[in-house]
Amino acid sequence: MIQIAIDGPGGAGKSTVAKAVAAKLGIVYVDTGALYRTIGYYVRQKNIAPDSREGVAACLPEISINIVYQDGAQHVYLNGVDHGDAIRTPEMSMYASAVSAIPSVRAFLLETQKDIARKNSVIMDGRDIGTVVLPDAQVKIFLSADSRVRAQRRWLELQAKGDNTPFEEV
Ligand code: C5P
Repeated sequence: MIQIAIDGPGGAGKSTVAKAVAAKLGIVYVDTGALYRTIGYYVRQKNIAPDSREGVAACLPEISINIVYQDGAQHVYLNGVDHGDAIRTPEMSMYASAVSAIPSVRAFLLETQKDIARKNSVIMDGRDIGTVVLPDAQVKIFLSADSRVRAQRRWLELQAKGDNTPFEEV
């Protein structure tokens, strides 16, 4: 079993590197940002302010998250439903970011993430992966890039999905 942790800011290329390494080594790539996005998606559906600690904490017991890997791709099921790319919009980036600042959300997702790493060889990316989620990872990488380059990567990703959010907004 191997655990590889990649940390660093958004748009630096963490998931691109992680996916390539996972394919090469035949291990599981865990996109942890998708878990925060999924919580954000639920909070949005419920019309709860994503920065409301009490409001968000109160809805956590209603949330069940399951992660399934099919042909190397990760699918996150929120109460039995895979919402696909609906968790990838800029609005969901903001919701994910807001809910991820709430300690009860981080605690809620910690066990989910640790459980995957107990059962599989993994490469995981995201904030605090190397420190909190996989403190004993054999390999730890911090990947960064210039903020303009990071914004450009995100912008190109959005364009490819038909999302025309202007570059400056990204
Ligand atoms: O990587 P991605 O853009 O999908 O992550 C969405 C948000 O989730 C990040 O902006 C960050 O606020 C949060 N996140 C986190 N810890 C992780 C992964 C993501 O707080 N391990």
